Amino acid sequence: MQERGKKTPYIIGLTGGIGSGKSTISSMFEELGAEIVDADKISHSIVRKNTPLHKEIVKHFGPDILDEKEELNRPLLRNIIFNDSKEKAWLEALMHPAIKNTISGIIKESQNPYIILSVPLLLESENYDFVDRVLVIDVPESLQLERIGKRDNISTELAQSIIKSQMNRSERNKRADDIIVNDAPIEEIRELVKQLHVKYQQAT
Ligand code: ADP
Repeated sequence: MQERGKKTPYIIGLTGGIGSGKSTISSMFEELGAEIVDADKISHSIVRKNTPLHKEIVKHFGPDILDEKEELNRPLLRNIIFNDSKEKAWLEALMHPAIKNTISGIIKESQNPYIILSVPLLLESENYDFVDRVLVIDVPESLQLERIGKRDNISTELAQSIIKSQMNRSERNKRADDIIVNDAPIEEIRELVKQLHVKYQQAT
């Protein structure tokens, strides 16, 4: 049961392709005082050393899945599940309920009128049907490649293959309630974020 007088925050699902500007734009919302929930950060924190999920994963894949600090070797794990759909399904079945529980807990505790829930694969996943509104960060692919190249120091081929594995731009944009086209200077984008912040504060 809800506490008297406490309203559930409005949930804005923020998504976009790799390098579209999700982190940059989430930080802009945060600077304005919005509450940010980052699904990627949650998925990392629930499998840290000494957590129950960390133990489950080591039991399943064996100790070779650990790095020298006994944390999960993420690139190795990513590689395994990229090449084995059964292992991918196993890991997702383990992780998703825990991610969802953590997010639900944060939403329940929140005193804010709205929450920005940042999820890279929001529209690809079936786990986020509780989102009230979808904000897509959109960029032309050429700019996306340029920014990923600068940020991650990976080859154009790898960046292109990651982009290909994600939902395509027009499909993603079709499912958006709001779109920020992040091809303008940072200060212009900040203005758009301010306008959305005002709108989201009034959302019910
Ligand atoms: P994502 O979180 O979606 O992967 P980031 O927010 O990390 O993307 O942005 C990718 C890169 O592009 C970062 O290096 C960021 O500083 C840069 N960037 C984002 N938005 C802009 C912008 N409007 N102008 C210039 N650089 C930008």
